[in-house]
Amino acid sequence: MPIRYRCRHCETEVGQLPLDSIDEAFLQKNNIEPEEQHIYIQTGAEGDYTIQCICEECQTSLQKFPSYYALKKWIQ
Ligand SMILES: [Zn+2]
Repeated sequence: MPIRYRCRHCETEVGQLPLDSIDEAFLQKNNIEPEEQHIYIQTGAEGDYTIQCICEECQTSLQKFPSYYALKKWIQ
């Protein structure tokens, strides 16, 4: 079951990792604290994982219009 990366802003699938599980090394590599795991990593019904990340496009927009994204996040 691949691990999917999905942009948390536009929900575009950014990529997949051919991994079966998430281990400590993976979390360290992605700078995710074990206690933050539930925020960034969603477990699907089939035991699949989706990592919440940010795509290049949103990253660029975020740098250009930080207030827009802050506002959007606040409304949600
Ligand atoms: Zn995006």
